[in-house]
Amino acid sequence: MKNPEKSDKMVVTLDGPAASGKSTTARLVAKEMGWLYLDTGAMYRAMAVKVLDEGIPLDDPEAIGAMARRTKMTLKASDEGTRVFLDGVEVTHRIRTPEVDRAVGPVCEVPVVREVLVALQREIGKKGSLVAEGRDMGTVVFPDADLKFYVIASIEARARRRRIDMERQGISVSLDELIHEIERRDRRDSERTHSPLRPAGDAGLLDTSEMTLEQQVGTVVQKIHRKMAR
Ligand code: C5P
Repeated sequence: MKNPEKSDKMVVTLDGPAASGKSTTARLVAKEMGWLYLDTGAMYRAMAVKVLDEGIPLDDPEAIGAMARRTKMTLKASDEGTRVFLDGVEVTHRIRTPEVDRAVGPVCEVPVVREVLVALQREIGKKGSLVAEGRDMGTVVFPDADLKFYVIASIEARARRRRIDMERQGISVSLDELIHEIERRDRRDSERTHSPLRPAGDAGLLDTSEMTLEQQVGTVVQKIHRKMAR
């Protein structure tokens, strides 16, 4: 439901650590509002797929950056989420494997990769109202967003959710392994030099540990409606 009186486009950002519940929440909020959904993790993951496909060493930022510059990425909305294409070839089904989980850290730290993808994210942001989800949406990409959320959840809740996601893809991983992997990524995301994970000063905290998906979506949608009514 969009307020027809307010024709100005709105930007809502959801940032937070891996598996905090932000992706599904962002996608469903966008669907309910009839807005665009921007899954920026999918964009960094797609770049990691290409790095692996081309056999580029993960410790070669120059080669990774050059690949990012010559790659044309396009996104298409679908009911299941964002479909990602690299030079016209779909990679959507390849971006959430453990191999990509491991490669995406070094890839997303390459300044050229961030430069290329941030430019594309802002381009997409010009197209209409959107819910943007990632690590640096409220701090770097859309600092003037109308509403910002920083989504967190306990490590156990996050590992359980990640396991359900992986089981859906037929991948079985132990909870301990997932906790370890999530902690490793949290450290990496918050300690990196470029766009480290941190809440924007004006972001509202959304702790999803004890919330159902409906409650998460409802909370965000309610805040959007309140903001639109102002
Ligand atoms: O959210 P998701 O787990 O799909 O993100 C994949 C990786 O991409 C994360 O580990 C994070 O390091 C990186 N990322 C980022 N900036 C974003 C979104 C994701 O650096 N805006």
